[in-house]
Amino acid sequence: MKRKLVIIGAGMASGRVLEHLLAAEPEGWDVTLFNAEPRGNYNRIMLSPVLSGEKTYQDIVTHDDDFYAQHKINCRFGEAVVRIDRENKVVYSNEGGAPYDKLLIATGSAPFIIPVPGHDLPGVITYRDMDDTQAMIDASDKPGAKAVVIGGGLLGLEAAAGLKARGMEVAVIHLMGHLMERQLDPAAGYLLQKDLEARGITVHCKGATKAILGTDRVEAVLLDDGTVYDADQVCMAVGIRPEVRIATDAALEIGRGITVNDQMVTSDPDILAVGECVEHNAQLFGLVAPLYDQAKVVAATLLNKDAAFQPVQTATKLKVTGVDLFSAGDFADANGREDIVFRDPARGVYKRLVIEDNRLIGAVMYGETGDGSWFFGLIKDGTDISDMRDTLIFGPAYQGGTGADPLAAVAALPLDAEICGCNGICKGTIVSAIEGGATSLADIKAQTKASASCGTCTGLVEQVLASTLGDAFKMPAAQPMCGCTDLTHEDVRRLIKARELKSMPAVMQELGWKTSCGCHVCRPALNFYLLADWPEDYHDDAQSRFVNERNHANIQKDGTYSVVPRMWGGMTNPRELRAVADAADKYDIPAVKVTGGQRIDLLGVKKEHLPDIWADLNAAGLVSGHAYSKGLRTVKTCVGTDFCRFGTQDSTGLGIKLEKRLWGSWTPHKVKLAVSGCPRNCAEATCKDVGIVCVDSGFEIGVGGAAGMDLKETERLAKVATEAEAIDLTVAFVQLYREHAKYLDRPYKWLAKVGLEWVQAQIVEDMDNRAALIKRFDLSQTIYQRDPWADRATPQARADFAPLADLTKEAAE
Ligand SMILES: Cc1cc2nc3c(=O)[nH]c(=O)nc-3n(C[C@H](O)[C@H](O)[C@H](O)COP(=O)(O)OP(=O)(O)OC[C@H]3O[C@@H](n4cnc5c(N)ncnc54)[C@H](O)[C@@H]3O)c2cc1C
Ligand code: SF4
Repeated sequence: MKRKLVIIGAGMASGRVLEHLLAAEPEGWDVTLFNAEPRGNYNRIMLSPVLSGEKTYQDIVTHDDDFYAQHKINCRFGEAVVRIDRENKVVYSNEGGAPYDKLLIATGSAPFIIPVPGHDLPGVITYRDMDDTQAMIDASDKPGAKAVVIGGGLLGLEAAAGLKARGMEVAVIHLMGHLMERQLDPAAGYLLQKDLEARGITVHCKGATKAILGTDRVEAVLLDDGTVYDADQVCMAVGIRPEVRIATDAALEIGRGITVNDQMVTSDPDILAVGECVEHNAQLFGLVAPLYDQAKVVAATLLNKDAAFQPVQTATKLKVTGVDLFSAGDFADANGREDIVFRDPARGVYKRLVIEDNRLIGAVMYGETGDGSWFFGLIKDGTDISDMRDTLIFGPAYQGGTGADPLAAVAALPLDAEICGCNGICKGTIVSAIEGGATSLADIKAQTKASASCGTCTGLVEQVLASTLGDAFKMPAAQPMCGCTDLTHEDVRRLIKARELKSMPAVMQELGWKTSCGCHVCRPALNFYLLADWPEDYHDDAQSRFVNERNHANIQKDGTYSVVPRMWGGMTNPRELRAVADAADKYDIPAVKVTGGQRIDLLGVKKEHLPDIWADLNAAGLVSGHAYSKGLRTVKTCVGTDFCRFGTQDSTGLGIKLEKRLWGSWTPHKVKLAVSGCPRNCAEATCKDVGIVCVDSGFEIGVGGAAGMDLKETERLAKVATEAEAIDLTVAFVQLYREHAKYLDRPYKWLAKVGLEWVQAQIVEDMDNRAALIKRFDLSQTIYQRDPWADRATPQARADFAPLADLTKEAAE
């Protein structure tokens, strides 16, 4: 007598179960197959080629009417099961019941929908089944239609590529910093983004959806940062969760999925579960490979044979024609793990292997993935790779590969790429000079003027010489930025501009970084260079900052912090002082000190109190004094004409104006200013980065002073007649320093390299350049002049600052 098997869900997993079961015991089962979709089993993973037009629905059907008829399967398609009566062993849809001896739940997953306003508007869909796919195909019929895909993971990107292939204008909104962050590291994510953008898809990373806009149907998507993308269709592909509703109602044991044992049996011995709806040993599944293994075990269990499900490693590929990526295993940074990285910027190739205890544990590859399955095999087998370590990255067919060429980045530059920004000399001019007989840096300087001004392009000019002359040119030893690259800071800065590199992964890939994600030396520097050069395109990366800048306060030797509110030009008032005093009382501050920059320092603040003390000080109108940052610290002033009988100008007023203009800007190192009302110089302006000494006839502006490890008097930049000009020159000087200095060089060190004359030529004599620098500074300020205390005095920040770890172990700046 046939046993009754009822299956809920005609998906990929249950399709495999049927094949194994009916092959082994064709006459043993009386099968009823329910499916909520109005169709039978098809290859869900091939929906993307259907969407892009490369396949049709008929091409992806895995079990057709003949199969069901041949096995006398009672198909109840379009009928969702709504209840399981475990006591009487019957399942019910709204159309009626079906009794079972054994029940198999194979309900897959339900797509997650972000509950933002407008998520239920017509035109907002998920990407899970043929109906969704058809809805997207239909939407693409409208000429000029626009689609927004929320989610830059595997599904979202396949949807985006498919919609683009159908002629829609597509934007992908992704919450995280890079695409497919669960499968790819930032370097591979960058290459993927570049490829997608080259296809005309807009990619918006770090984008949080705030609302979906529209009246009768979707019209646009609004992000937290205010960006609006027009949309005729919105596809949410932000994740899935196991579809467990009927199992929950039936009181089966549920974790995140339906709990099954190694035999795929649920907490009810007559009910099995398979596929994405299950949870096995606290693990969920989202790719078909493990589901197919589960299907074999389900069939064996139903046949009373021994079998146990053992999850195996899975690898990911993106099914977008022309995009080659591969990712397998674990590639998170952790102690004891090492990376082997290979980059070929010219071909857009990136490969990274992660090794632990002489075993390959993760692999990420982009652009060239032919060896993916070989690496995957090494991961799965836990092969000891000690013997092939040196050549491992070149794959199984390696026959004597060579390391990456450090000159490749410069060699790849087009001839019209600008090398010497000061004199507007491009690579082609230098190459022509070399072809005309120039063999040294001195020859190039004399013949082309390249590197003859500020000198920051010297390294690049030498590399052009080396790549053009080959062995005939001996490269002088230059100090590379760090172990991740052979390029100097100056080279990197120039190349970031010349090649318009606007993200950290872009810099690392295109300049051939030797590590996957950089190190504690290059990341803060790159973060600064990128935000200084591309304020509108690059987003500051807090993780690439020193601890003080991350916490917006200076860590002290006992692990507490110092908090310094800004006091414009050193001026304060009773209300501010009361707020400071109240904060000192309330938070039990052990020490309150007036600093050399005329500010009040609250010392000994506990980390967990930081957000609250900031909120209290904010309430009194006080903002962060940035006493911890590589940015404007203080503008010290004397009382000037307001109170002093020697005062020649309003030095306090000028100091306040300067501070209000410059605060919040990031600079290569800290910047301190002072304004003295007369040459008696009570504000000690002549040892500051910029020091202004007022005189009867105007303002004497000095730059490049120092009063720390080095002691140095400022050099006279210019004397100007008006306060407005003094402000302009100061702003232009700060911007010139931001755009050209090496990270962690104070202005006096940078000035020593480029020379005062060069700076004067740029901002005193060249009025157009001065104006352009000021414009770029002001543009940057529209983005970066924000009070970080106000930004961080939130419930989320309070959680971040809660005491979790031993603070004294955090590296100080
Ligand atoms: C567009 C797309 C691309 C993908 N690409 C890949 C890939 O490249 N590689 C990869 O490994 N994986 C991929 N996947 C994931 C893969 O498709 C899933 O892992 C797999 O389909 C899960 O199989 P399943 O049988 O558990 O669930 P499903 O295939 O989802 O089947 C479940 C079925 O159960 C039905 N159902 C649910 N509840 C009920 C109910 N109460 N009553 C009746 N029926 C019900 C559903 O309608 C559905 O038809 C992709 C998925 C999608 C959507
Ligand atoms: S610098 Fe001159 S103006 Fe300023 S306080 Fe001193 S004496 Fe007075």
